[in-house]
Parts: sequence; C-alpha cells; structure tokens
Amino acid sequence: MQFDDDANLDTSEVQDVRGSRIPGGRATVGGGLAGLIALLLGLFFGVGPDNLGLSSGSDSPVATASSLAQVQSTCRTGQDANTKEDCRIVAVVNSVQDFWTQEFERRSGTYTRSPTVFFSGQVATACGTATSAVGPFYCPGDRKVYLDLGFFDELRTKFGSSGGQFAQAYVVAHEYGHHVQDLMGTLGRSQDGRTGANSNAVKVELQADCYAGVWAHHATTTKDESTGRPLITSLTDADIQDGLDAAAAVGDDRIQERFQGRVTPESWTHGSAAQRQQWFYQGYRTGDMAQCNTFR
Ligand SMILES: [Zn+2]
Repeated sequence: MQFDDDANLDTSEVQDVRGSRIPGGRATVGGGLAGLIALLLGLFFGVGPDNLGLSSGSDSPVATASSLAQVQSTCRTGQDANTKEDCRIVAVVNSVQDFWTQEFERRSGTYTRSPTVFFSGQVATACGTATSAVGPFYCPGDRKVYLDLGFFDELRTKFGSSGGQFAQAYVVAHEYGHHVQDLMGTLGRSQDGRTGANSNAVKVELQADCYAGVWAHHATTTKDESTGRPLITSLTDADIQDGLDAAAAVGDDRIQERFQGRVTPESWTHGSAAQRQQWFYQGYRTGDMAQCNTFR
C-alpha cells in the first residue's frame, strides 16, 4: 500500500487521546442498549465476555503534553503515511471516508464523517468505558471508531495474522463498515442478543467485512479532496492477501480453536474464517455495496 507523498492528511478525522487519563479514573460498564452494542461490536476478535475488560477500575497513565494529539503535529502528508504507522491509519481513515462520502452522494444519500479515536489503556465512550482488551470497536452512541494501535501487534502475535499494513487497513475499514450500517439503519439488527453461525450478529459483522472489501476495490481510484488525485496510489495482490489473512485470523472458529481448544458455532458472533474471507472478497471483487446483502 502506497500513499501519494504530496497529499495532505486530514487529521481532524482522528482524535488522539493516547496517554490521557479518564476523568475520575473509575470505569463504568456501558449501560442499556448502547452498551450492549458496544459489547457485540467490541468483540472484534471474539474474546469471551468474561475477558472483555470493560469495567476495569485501573487508571491509565497520566497524559504528557507530548503524547497527546501526536498525530495532529506529526501526520501532515502522504509521505508521513508512508513512513509512520499512526499516520498510515490517519490516511486510511481519510481514504475510507472519502470513498463513502462519494458513494453516498452517488446514491443520493449523505454520509456523515465520523472520527477514529486513538487511545491507549482505556477510554471513556458513550457506550461505556472500554479497555484495549475489547479490540477495535465502533460505538453507535457517539458514532466514533475506537482503536488502540497495540491491537495490531496482537493481531500478529496472538491471532497469527500476517499483520501487514493492509491487515490494519482492513480492520479500520471494517469498523467504518459498522458506521455505514449505522447510517443506513441496519446496524440495529445485531441487537437481538442472539449468537450463532446464522445469527443477525454474524450477518452484521460479515456485511461490515464486505463493506471493507468494497472500499478496498475503490481505494486506488477514490479521489482525495486535497489533491483531486487518489490518496492511495497502489495496492498489490499481497496487500489484499494481508486483508484476507487478517479476516481469517479473527474468524470465530480460528479464535475458538486457538483460545478454547474447540469450535462452538452456536456462540459465534462474527462468522468463521472462511465466511469472513468470502465476504471481504465479495466486496473487493464487485466493489458494489448492493452485493453485501448478508441477510438474504
Ligand atoms: Zn465488527
């Protein structure tokens, strides 16, 4: 994955609170429906509810001036995205949202841009306080994507993904897939509390994978607002393979095998490795969100 060196990154789409401390220091469990959705969506890599890490009482490190809002000062251009991990994520967020803005316009709809919050340790959200243990997640209560960049190391070390650059892009694009679902009113279908291979929870997750693939299809042709040229200048087959690899690594069957030693489809929330790859690839191959009807 390569970015246009001369593009300007829009850091307003990322809120960098790494190193900040939650006011009061005490975490609360997300209440009500919003909290429930956070639970469902936060289980990006399917760790059981007892491992969720919500409601931990420990304090995060106190912020230092230099650690706060780092991306705003260091991530200015596509060249920065080509050289620094956090800037690369900023660029992916820009590209994903540029695409959806243009796609919604094309369909006579309106896409509302939604920030990604970089955090470390734990973070207070409208869906409750979450720790890094939940993995990346989308909170419909405040319409933000939450991401601890440390998760990308875990993707490699704990989940056995190749952990390439595009694996990270897939994760970000998947979370924005949930934002698209939120805007389209389909996200709520995951709220019936059911799990299992044919549950709505799984269908919502697979659709987010498909939407990530749809963006990937258009990533090198979506025009950047600052230059009128694509922000992402090249994606290789190896990049797409990284995305497919990550999608498989966070499949429910893989995770269950790895962490509980057996596969129990009735408790699936995100779909199997094969399903996740299949739907990501379906989106990538067609580039058409209408081909992402996982509910059919
Ligand atoms: Zn998800």
